[in-house]
Amino acid sequence: MAALDIVRIPVLSDNYVWLVHDPESGATMVVDPAVAEPVLAAAAERGWTITDIWNTHWHPDHTGGNAAIKDATGCTITGPAAEFARIPTLDVQVKGGDKVRLGHHVADVWDVPAHTAGHIAYHFASDAAIFVGDTMFAMGCGRLFEGTAEQMFANMQKLGTLDDTTRVYCAHEYTLSNARFAVTVEPDNVALAARLAAVESARAAGEATVPTSIGEERATNPFLRAPNAAELGRIRALKDAA
Ligand SMILES: [Zn+2]
Repeated sequence: MAALDIVRIPVLSDNYVWLVHDPESGATMVVDPAVAEPVLAAAAERGWTITDIWNTHWHPDHTGGNAAIKDATGCTITGPAAEFARIPTLDVQVKGGDKVRLGHHVADVWDVPAHTAGHIAYHFASDAAIFVGDTMFAMGCGRLFEGTAEQMFANMQKLGTLDDTTRVYCAHEYTLSNARFAVTVEPDNVALAARLAAVESARAAGEATVPTSIGEERATNPFLRAPNAAELGRIRALKDAA
């Protein structure tokens, strides 16, 4: 089975839309299209036709391009059943434990509530890749808009069961801000200090810093490394106030 081609499309101020292509079947999927035009252009440049949209949660900067991409391509839109009322463009509703297919590749759907109540993630075990929306970021986690620190802690623990090599495709370039906060939580973490320096260089050069990997996050993400939900909640509140 040929590996998925995964393309990062930067849109709006700091969003990343992921274009995912199965070279064997030609199936092409978009994760969380905030907008339509740059996504359609990125697919057209490569001669790909978008067959699917997969949403992780209802926020407009993850679903705003749904209708226009569907109008242009006739694609099928899959997303969280629990948020159907807020994503009326959904054709297929899924929940944790379901499987969704892109050509020859099958993703497991995970329930990861906390940022929003119905937030889901898509894990391609065959490709060691997970699309997490706004649940985990490089050295950070999503804000707790519709859930609790207990839920986010459970999400982090579950992500922590994946292999170090698993690539984590998150939906925002928040890395530098997260790194600067993370070093205040873990001032003695040598790996974290080194990563902050690398991220400062990358951002100064205008480079993207995601996807990240579970191994990098295990070493440097204070939210994944938090020993319990109370500590995660404490540092999340500090970051919110920062
Ligand atoms: Zn969001």
